[in-house]
Amino acid sequence: MTARILVVDDVLPNVKVLEAKLSAEYYDVLTAFSGPEALEVIHRDLPDLVLLDVMMPGMDGFEVCRRIKSDPAIAHIPVVMVTALSEPADKIQGLEAGADDFLTKPVDDISLFARVKSLLRLKMTMDELRMREQTSTQFGVTEAFTEISLEVGPDVRVLVVEDNPTDARNLQETLSSRYQVTVEGDGAGALALAKGGDYDLVVVSMTLANMDPLRLCSQLRTSEETRHAPIIILVDEGDRERLLKALEIGVNDYILRPTDRNELLARALTQVRRKRYQDRLRDNYVRSMSMAVTDGLTDLFNRRYFASHIENLMKGQRKSSKPISVLLIDIDHFKKVNDTYGHAVGDEVLREFANRIKRNVRGIDLPARFGGEEFVVVMPDTDIAKAARVAERLRASIEEQPFAVSAADVGELNITCSIGVSATRPDDTVDELVRRADDALYEAKGAGRNRVCIAESDRAAAGLADTVS
Ligand code: GH3
Ligand code: MG
Ligand code: MG
Repeated sequence: MTARILVVDDVLPNVKVLEAKLSAEYYDVLTAFSGPEALEVIHRDLPDLVLLDVMMPGMDGFEVCRRIKSDPAIAHIPVVMVTALSEPADKIQGLEAGADDFLTKPVDDISLFARVKSLLRLKMTMDELRMREQTSTQFGVTEAFTEISLEVGPDVRVLVVEDNPTDARNLQETLSSRYQVTVEGDGAGALALAKGGDYDLVVVSMTLANMDPLRLCSQLRTSEETRHAPIIILVDEGDRERLLKALEIGVNDYILRPTDRNELLARALTQVRRKRYQDRLRDNYVRSMSMAVTDGLTDLFNRRYFASHIENLMKGQRKSSKPISVLLIDIDHFKKVNDTYGHAVGDEVLREFANRIKRNVRGIDLPARFGGEEFVVVMPDTDIAKAARVAERLRASIEEQPFAVSAADVGELNITCSIGVSATRPDDTVDELVRRADDALYEAKGAGRNRVCIAESDRAAAGLADTVS
């Protein structure tokens, strides 16, 4: 089933940009241009995810989010706030409104798709759990219900870091009604406990005497053993400055003192539930992250990753004078391989072809699958003559060693490829650079294939001979 994503923004071009990106990845995109319209669409079409602009005239994004999260019929739909600034103040308001995640404008592709995929997975799991809950309630199977609701089960471990004895006792009392609670007054001790304890939640007082609580939060966030544990801080009303700092560090939520018992339990439950979902989903998430940037068949980076990589390289390169070279590689008469031996053999050739590319480039070079039987290699700090030599070496390695395929009656195949080469020039753009490599590739094909060609204008600029091979 295709996921449905609602994009909400009062500015038409903003909506269009996100709509185009998401549609290109085959998501169904719904749009709304105001808060009230968004709520109408959500109720009517029940999207799987909402990308919500914060700044909108009339009803702003915070208010829309609050209304979504306070309506049981739609509260389970994840909401990503899209903010122009990464203002911690926005995040506080967003958290208070119940937002599930944040994206900063301008939204870059990789973080957009990573977020979207991860939240859609979370949503799918929640839907699955909700469905099972409904089913088991219908059938009166309460055991199943307990089992799938394990996020609030008795094995949830909470670490409370508080050195004020009265507060510590109150927190322990409140939280023990649901969780296994450990209280620690010493900051260093708490860090050691957290690293070894596999806690589902850490509650940190911002008034510790013997350690800077912000430092503790930061260490919890960055250390491998504890970085997935959610953190809630307890902060005094007037301590806004440190609250902002804490949110910057990556604290998940906060509660103002004096601590309200119900608020504490509610916020703790939200964090613990999400942690438990996320524990289950982390494997999938890592997988989808890498799926977002790699090609499934060849394991090379995909075209989207290539695009963002070379864009970044070119930005950095403007300051230095070292050129970046690009090889565009296309297998010759590949259609014939498919037509003669079948698609499976074709796939095998593509995989081996990708391996040979990998073997012929340096660690800092980036090979990617450009599409179909076309590949691209980005080579930083490489001038056109050197790039052409690499291309020639690669071309020869393809031609000289026949491709062994597993199909018994096929044996070995002779494969060749054509390569177009280009290198950056002053004030170059990615599109221009790739276009010149593509022209050169076209030239190589026209000249009989199984050869390397340098873009005509690059050749002239570098004072090189016509064709390299
Ligand atoms: P040329 O020398 O002009 O490049 O000829 P060609 O046959 O290689 O080029 P053409 O673009 O006509 O055909 C490319 C073929 O690559 C067609 C398509 O079926 C095949 N192809 C693209 N992606 C894949 C894939 O993932 N697996 C397989 N097996 N074939 C693929
Ligand atoms: Mg081809
Ligand atoms: Mg082609």
